[in-house]
Amino acid sequence: MKRIKFVILAFVVLFSISLQAQQPVKPKNIILMIGDGMGLAQISAGKTYKGQLNLEKMKVIGLLTTYSCDEYVTDSAAGATAMSTGYKTKNVAIGIDCNGEKRETVLEHANKIGKSTGIVVVCAITHATPAAFVAHVPDRNMQIEIAEQIAKEANTDLYLGTGWGWFLPKSKGGRRNDTLDLIEVMKKRGYFYISKPEEFYNLDIKNVNKLLGLFAENHPPYAPDRKPTLAEMTKKAIEFLSRDKDGFFLMVEGSQIDWAGHDNNSDQILKEMADFDDAIGVALDFAQKDGNTLVIVTADHETGGYALVNGSVSERKVEGKFITKSHTGIMVPVFAFGPGAEAFAGFGDNTLIGKKIFEYLKK
Ligand SMILES: [Zn+2]
Repeated sequence: MKRIKFVILAFVVLFSISLQAQQPVKPKNIILMIGDGMGLAQISAGKTYKGQLNLEKMKVIGLLTTYSCDEYVTDSAAGATAMSTGYKTKNVAIGIDCNGEKRETVLEHANKIGKSTGIVVVCAITHATPAAFVAHVPDRNMQIEIAEQIAKEANTDLYLGTGWGWFLPKSKGGRRNDTLDLIEVMKKRGYFYISKPEEFYNLDIKNVNKLLGLFAENHPPYAPDRKPTLAEMTKKAIEFLSRDKDGFFLMVEGSQIDWAGHDNNSDQILKEMADFDDAIGVALDFAQKDGNTLVIVTADHETGGYALVNGSVSERKVEGKFITKSHTGIMVPVFAFGPGAEAFAGFGDNTLIGKKIFEYLKK
């Protein structure tokens, strides 16, 4: 009898454990961090340079295929669209699928369900990666239209990056041939606008509900010459967005790892990787304390066919070689931390990022 009782008890315990394991995980906050052009060689180089990466704290690791619907080797527009919508698209397309149909982005959906949303980049916010989260155009080069969609249609709560020139007419020092002052349009929609690093450092977010910070006419310089830094902006963004009791979605891009790759500049890849990893540290610090934040770090593609052919761990230097000035089709790593992280382990496709984030938002 005792034995039967034990068997029943063991069964009940096992059953409840398996029920628990099937409980859906729903992170309150999601931070997606994209290292543009960040392949495994870039990460290896960054680790050699920095000694230890914050990225190493992320224990769930996977690999993603990155091909677009028309090319084996993706560009940032198609790569970011796969992550922002869960749908593949053609190279250069933004926020639409392979058939040209407009697709909702995870950021737009997060807005719709009452979460706060933000974009933090070290490039113009009209550039391919950020644009894929907030705009829908057939060609990434339509930055004039992208700016207009951001200003008039998107409901993102925070933008920190650069590129005010795309929002202003030529008469006001911008690049628009029309007469639209989209900064004014955004101010009327409730955005508090800053464009100088001092304004960023002195900003009291207490009475600010929507923030637009654009710190250069087009793109900012290479690290470490950027003010504010990606890590500083990430910290501010988290402080800003985490005030929302319903949670937030934040996309952070280490935009210029890619450009150092296009330039075949190995030394600059080290600096950009260190800069991006500082921002990863900020996000992980918050996630660790918060306990209800999923952090995903990945890349849209690799750039340069970068290879490490020599180096020194003790001297923290690498000798890098490149096989192209463009992107390559090698799989990119994905790292995840926090509730829901396990979904990113193993092999996957870049659309997994968008699909999973949607799933977590919709649960
Ligand atoms: Zn690129």
